[in-house]
Amino acid sequence: MLTKPTTDPRRLIVFTDLDGTLLDHDSYSWAPATPALAKLRRLAVPVILTSSKTGAEIARLHAELELDAPYIVENGAGIIFPEQEQSPAAAAQNFSRTYPELLAFLHQLRHKHNFKFRGFGDFSVAEVAAETGLPLEKAALARERRFSEPLRWDDTPAALAAFTEILEANDLKLLRGGRFYHVLDHRAGKGNALHRLLDHYRRNTPGADWYSVALGDGPNDEDMLDAADLAVVIPSASSIGPKPHNPNVLHAGQRGPQGWNSAILQILDSYETKE
Ligand SMILES: [Mg+2]
Repeated sequence: MLTKPTTDPRRLIVFTDLDGTLLDHDSYSWAPATPALAKLRRLAVPVILTSSKTGAEIARLHAELELDAPYIVENGAGIIFPEQEQSPAAAAQNFSRTYPELLAFLHQLRHKHNFKFRGFGDFSVAEVAAETGLPLEKAALARERRFSEPLRWDDTPAALAAFTEILEANDLKLLRGGRFYHVLDHRAGKGNALHRLLDHYRRNTPGADWYSVALGDGPNDEDMLDAADLAVVIPSASSIGPKPHNPNVLHAGQRGPQGWNSAILQILDSYETKE
């Protein structure tokens, strides 16, 4: 529960997972979170969308929510800065291997070791739609990758172990997702991305003491929940929820955007930020 004084002068920053957290698990609606979102906007609290989705997939939601803060994409493998996406400073926030370089590396490994896998870079949009169950338009956005590669493993567990070892020796890692394995930079991850963005805010607001709140509903949110000053666990629609080690944790009473809304309003009440 909240342990800080009610007149904490530190500036709030909110990091949130999307599916099952800010967005309803079934309808993808964020409408029930409108009161809390409006209050955060009035207080100029940055809301950082943090997701396994691509920038192309998140851009529309980011616009709908009228956010101007950066957002974290592809499981923390990249950070999109909407204002200055093309600047060298913004590019430096992301990792060294570009997506074409990552694909070239993976294809070279496949050729050399005869691994059997297919990734989004191998799939057409229609194949991504068939593999994911997404409609074509959304499959096209999911295929617009910039930082990480989801792949379908069609080989043995022993080959997967060998593949993982080679990735790790080359500063990459493998995350197991729902349908796919994801290859990303070894420094990627929602928690690391949270730290990198906080550094960005600290550089741009000298003297400000940021207090980070992270909200999530899944095991892939655990490192983000642990990286924040306050973790908000949203009850999961599936049976597996996150088990953060963060001692400062608030368990929302309801799922999805309803839980998101009440947790944020509760935090803002206890925070008594001056309007
Ligand atoms: Mg989720």
